[in-house]
Amino acid sequence: MFVRFHGVRGSNPTCDVRTWHYGGNTPCVEVETPAGYRIIIDGGTGLRSLGRGAGWGPDSVPIQASWLMSHYHWDHIQGIPFFPPLYEARNRFQFYGLKPDGGGGIEATLQGQMLRPYFPVDMSLLVAAQAFKDVEPESRWQIEDATVEAVPLNHPQGCLGFRIETDQGVVVYATDNEPGDPKGDDAVRHLARDADLLIYDSQYPPAMLRHRQGWGHSSWLEGVAVAKSARARALVLFHHDPDSDDASIGRFVQMAREQWPETCAAAEGLQAAVRTPAVAFESTSPRVGPRVTTRLPVRVRGRRSDGSPMDAEGFLVNLTLTGTYVVVPDTPELSSEVEVTLLESDQLAAAMPGHVVRVDRDPDTGLPGVGIVFRLEEEIRRLTEKR
Ligand SMILES: [Zn+2]
Ligand SMILES: [Zn+2]
Repeated sequence: MFVRFHGVRGSNPTCDVRTWHYGGNTPCVEVETPAGYRIIIDGGTGLRSLGRGAGWGPDSVPIQASWLMSHYHWDHIQGIPFFPPLYEARNRFQFYGLKPDGGGGIEATLQGQMLRPYFPVDMSLLVAAQAFKDVEPESRWQIEDATVEAVPLNHPQGCLGFRIETDQGVVVYATDNEPGDPKGDDAVRHLARDADLLIYDSQYPPAMLRHRQGWGHSSWLEGVAVAKSARARALVLFHHDPDSDDASIGRFVQMAREQWPETCAAAEGLQAAVRTPAVAFESTSPRVGPRVTTRLPVRVRGRRSDGSPMDAEGFLVNLTLTGTYVVVPDTPELSSEVEVTLLESDQLAAAMPGHVVRVDRDPDTGLPGVGIVFRLEEEIRRLTEKR
């Protein structure tokens, strides 16, 4: 089964260049079951990129898919009115979601964001066949070749976490969850039991989480604790804070990996292929930033996915204080640490440490492209503080 990340940012979308590598769109995850049936989880602004992906365009009509809604805060629903497949009468979507506190059910709640004067057309123009089911917490049901389980998470106005089981593996989506409530903590661990892939709310740094009580979110440290006690396999940090730039998220991953090596951070275009006991990650879309391009010779030292050392010469496509995109004829492991050295340069001969945030293919050369976020800012801060 496949899991594709289209929106990974929490609360509010960002278009700041410093959040470019992981991406600024709000939650939307696509799951493809072994039989090829598709399940969308949440409808944040990442839904726009899902809609442009293979199998969702006009050529693929009629589309049949199911949709799991964790809850109805803006960051989880805002992409829905802009999703073209909903405007095609031959498509069919089955929605399942949290029954909201008070008011109507899932259907009325989704219609609510399209009422006047919030949106120019109402839901009656979304002519795709739609069916809605309010999900009772702790229920289990079948969607084609997948079994889905929902448990309530600890979040203001409620939220559901989902567990999707297939004969190829188990994927758990548990975001918008605040730890510290014994019942909620048990529910999350129960949901994540022996999961192959655990997608977990890691919005705040652990130190900040203490000052955000009641906001309904979590940290990478909690993600590690849940993965450990639930015996989950791969941990994906999710729902990044709008104020966390690429370098910060990179640090969270590094710290989490010291305690749980199978950790990476969700990024737009990241795909996980899940087949128990293996989970393989790859980036599916190149993400060359809007930067001045160069062709400086460069050397990259790091580690491949199989653990063997990598030492390759290539060229640098662009460079900022935050990070770089290089093209080299070899591929380091996603989220691993690397060192980049500019060749033929006396002043910049020192190796620049960083970590791999993307591994894709350079659209110009077809060679492996590697997105790296430096730890330079951290280094500079350290050196400045020393003075
Ligand atoms: Zn959220
Ligand atoms: Zn929320």
